[in-house]
This record gives sequence, structure tokens and C-alpha cells, in this order.
Amino acid sequence: MKPKPSMRAIFSAILLTAALTAGATAAANAADREVNVYSYRQPFLIEPMFDAFTAETGIKVNAVYAKTGMLERLQNEGRNSPADLVFTVDIGRLSDIQNAGLTQPVESAAINRGIPAGMRDPHGHWFGLTARARIIVTSKARVRPGEIGSYEDLADAKWKGRVCTRSGKHPYNVALFASMMHSHGDAAAQEWLAGLKSNLARRPQGNDRAQARAIAEGVCDVGVINHYYLYQMATSDKQKAWFEAIDVVFPNQADRGTHMNISGMAMTRHAPNPDEALALMEFLAGDRAQEMYAEVNGEYPVNPRIGVSGYLESLGDFKRDTLDLARVAANRGAASKMADRVGYND
Ligand code: FE
Repeated sequence: MKPKPSMRAIFSAILLTAALTAGATAAANAADREVNVYSYRQPFLIEPMFDAFTAETGIKVNAVYAKTGMLERLQNEGRNSPADLVFTVDIGRLSDIQNAGLTQPVESAAINRGIPAGMRDPHGHWFGLTARARIIVTSKARVRPGEIGSYEDLADAKWKGRVCTRSGKHPYNVALFASMMHSHGDAAAQEWLAGLKSNLARRPQGNDRAQARAIAEGVCDVGVINHYYLYQMATSDKQKAWFEAIDVVFPNQADRGTHMNISGMAMTRHAPNPDEALALMEFLAGDRAQEMYAEVNGEYPVNPRIGVSGYLESLGDFKRDTLDLARVAANRGAASKMADRVGYND
């Protein structure tokens, strides 16, 4: 989606200001080092890590935040783009930027130590920074604990008319469907998806939290959401009731584990400050930044050796599906077509 004119104007104005400031600073002191970031992630989520990075290295981080249009922006700017790094959520969006030829490969032993192989591109074009679990939530009132334990169970006829999800074309669901294709093969995955479709209580709609709300309102008994929305609902006056109506299931604990997705980063193809960009990437893959980043949004560190505290700790340990996200990325197109074939959104 292209940004609205107003958004584009704001985006340009911020960029121009950043460029002017950077230029003036560079003229004042040639030794100043900086790195330019385009971010789909909100400032409160990553600014604390940027500040810590600057305090440690003296390298300034100039960040531009946007909700949409970053890929188009990078494409339009071409080799004149000031951006060194891009931050976004979902393996789908990271691989879209890679497939558009807008990234460059990064090779770093320090990054590879911090980020598990399955959560970075094998050729270094993107790296996960936080991990999110795609969980099942169930009605406290109408589903007994243990009644559902896996994604496969979502297709069981006992849930007919009782399941709610968002669109089958949303990247979160496309990635989950792609992981099912990997685990079961195309034909069995399609049969599963058709079964899930036939169990839906309503046409796929709304965001992840809308599925918890639908459970609270008695529309359905089972939903599929990303885990950090639990935290967001629990700490919201308006949404707390939705949170209180649901139980949490980490799917597939008896076999491959719960499907995981990432938020992550990539170095742009024409990064003007590649050394500084690499330094920031290595910092963010390190233990300290991993702890901080996961905590601000209730996400998990990609590095499984980093402990969690507070809300995440209260959710308990669970087994993660370690399927390579590069394979999920490669299956996305086919997964999206599979959703069309079963008429998932009809
Ligand atoms: Fe989300």
C-alpha cells in the first residue's frame, strides 16, 4: 500500500531534517559517526536500544518511523537512499524487502552467535531480533483446559462453528500455513486448512485481538493470535475483559513446538554507512539489547539463552518450532494460494 500524501510529506520532511542535521554535524566534526534507520516498528520499542548503542559506541542513530510505504520509498530512492538499516515485523515483510533486491548480505560471527540459524537468512539478508509465538486461545467458560493442543486440532470437526481467525491472507497466518505445508506436505496441509475453514464461526475478519474479543462476546470458542497481544490486552482498560475471557495454549508441545515468527532487521543494498550499520546490528544481536528489546513489547528474545522475566515468565516455558524461517518465506506464495483454493476468506 502506498502512503497517503500527508504521510509521504511528513516522511520527507523528517528525512530532510535528519539529512540537514547530519550534514551540519558532519561538517562540524568529521569524526562523527552515524547510522540511518527506516523503521516500521514504533519509536518506544526500539529507541531505548538505540540510546544504549549510542551511549556505548558514540555512533548516532537517525531514525525515521513509518507505518507503510517503506519498500516503495527504498525503491524510489535507489542508490541515493540515506537508509542503512530497515526494521520491520514478520518474515513476510523481511523477505519482501529482500526479494525486491533492496538488501545486502551481512556476514558476522557476532550476529550469528546471538541469533539462531533458523531466525536469520542463510545468506545474511535479514535477521530476527524478537520472536513471537502464534498461539491458540480458548474460552475459559466453554473450553476445558487440554481440549485442544495443536494447530492440527483446529481442523477437528468437534470445533465446527466455534473457531475465529483473522484473514487467511494476513502475513501472520500465511506464515503459519506455510509452516503447515512444510510439516505435512501440500496435500495434507490443504486438507487441514479446508477443515479449519469449515470450522470457522464467521468469515475471517479483524486483527488478532478481535478474535479474543469475539471469544469474550460468545461469537466463538477458539482463536489464533500472536502472544504479545495477551500483554497488550491485559494492560489495557478497554481490552482487559477480552484477556480475562481466554485461556492460553502453546500449540504442538508434544511434537514440533509452537510456530514462531520474528521482527527483524536488514542492511539496505546501498547503505552509505555500512560499518556503523554493522556495529548497530551486532549490538542488537547481543545479550543486553536482546533482553531490553523483548521486554518492552512482551516479545521473546530470538536468542533462547536469554532468560525472560515478568509477564513472559508468567506464561511459562514452551517448546518452539525451530523450522527455518527462510523455508517459511519460500513457502509464502504457495501458502497464500492454498488459502485461496480453500476459499479461506470467502
Ligand atoms: Fe502484531
